[in-house]
Amino acid sequence: MRAPTGASVPLIDDPRRVVRLPSRLALAVLIAVAALGAVSALEPLLGRPYYFPAFAGIVLSAVLAGRRAGLVTTLVFTAAYAYWFLDPRGHFAMKGPHESAALAAYTVTGFFVAWVGGTLRTLYARVRSEHRLLETTVSQREDILRALTHDVRSPLNAIAMHAALLERAEGTDPGVARRARAIRTSVVAIDVMLQDLVKVVALESGQVVLERAPVELHALLDHVRERLGGVLPMERVEVQVPRDLPRLHVDPPRLERVLVNLVSNALKYSEGPVTIDAASRDGEVVVSVRDRGTGIGPEDLPHIFQKYYRAGDARQREGLGLGLYISRLLVEAHGGRIWAESTPGQGSTFHVAIPAAPAPAPAHPAHR
Ligand code: ADP
Repeated sequence: MRAPTGASVPLIDDPRRVVRLPSRLALAVLIAVAALGAVSALEPLLGRPYYFPAFAGIVLSAVLAGRRAGLVTTLVFTAAYAYWFLDPRGHFAMKGPHESAALAAYTVTGFFVAWVGGTLRTLYARVRSEHRLLETTVSQREDILRALTHDVRSPLNAIAMHAALLERAEGTDPGVARRARAIRTSVVAIDVMLQDLVKVVALESGQVVLERAPVELHALLDHVRERLGGVLPMERVEVQVPRDLPRLHVDPPRLERVLVNLVSNALKYSEGPVTIDAASRDGEVVVSVRDRGTGIGPEDLPHIFQKYYRAGDARQREGLGLGLYISRLLVEAHGGRIWAESTPGQGSTFHVAIPAAPAPAPAHPAHR
């Protein structure tokens, strides 16, 4: 069997490497002898010939040492059985055409069984080798991403910090301050993309475990404002969320991440005001982020939550097409739903529905 195309990983699980050719033939003969012993021992006990051990031996031989070994086991077994166990014993003479036909039928069945066993063995070796290749690829991808987050993000953070210092330093020329702010915004955008790549790997490999806690939507939105303020024009964002909403039972940083994605998209793809509102209905809290920007065409709308999907006109702006995909995975991990409505030229509204936290059980009278 050949390694799969492009495979650089040796077939370390190929059983042929475990048993070499002379030993494979010896093994085939040994198994045939053992099967012969088992058949001859069972015959007087059962009062009739019983060939199961022979077929089991052929399969074992083919699985351990390949199709050819299975064929050798079949031939050795059939020849030895005909020679020693069929009358006249110690001769190859058959009693008649029916006995020769039966023996031929057993031999053909044995060949078929050997072929099936050998095929199973080949398939197993291929699956194992492809599995190894996949594991190597996944671990290489994780290594690269780890290097990206660790080695690339540290200098990026240093650039952002110095740009912020320059921007805020007393006596900085307004033109220089504007450029420093532009540098900081770009660095933050690169950092978000790097984080998105890492997050996708973590989410897809099931490494993210939600740590739920009861939380007010208002508190989450305050955090979002804090995180994006100074980087994005948050003065365009208006929050119209009622104070009496039920608490959410969510992983706060993860849901905050979803809101950050939606708010930053709304600011990125529009020039005007962005509104965040929320309502409680049917046991869910639905948060909506509305912008009056470019909108999304009906041909793109069904795909925007897919990995790497970017609508045609979005490609002029920075982004990887991962933000909404990550948001969908995070919302679904919370048992919620995310969807969008949009009218091209008029704007888009993104909705996130999260099950409301179960009401705390009333205290038992004895514990009041
Ligand atoms: P990115 O913004 O990095 O391209 P996202 O996954 O956040 O990736 O969004 C996927 C695509 O959905 C975007 O490329 C854009 O075409 C579209 N999109 C998302 N949010 C909006 C929005 N508020 N207005 C218009 N288009 C949007």
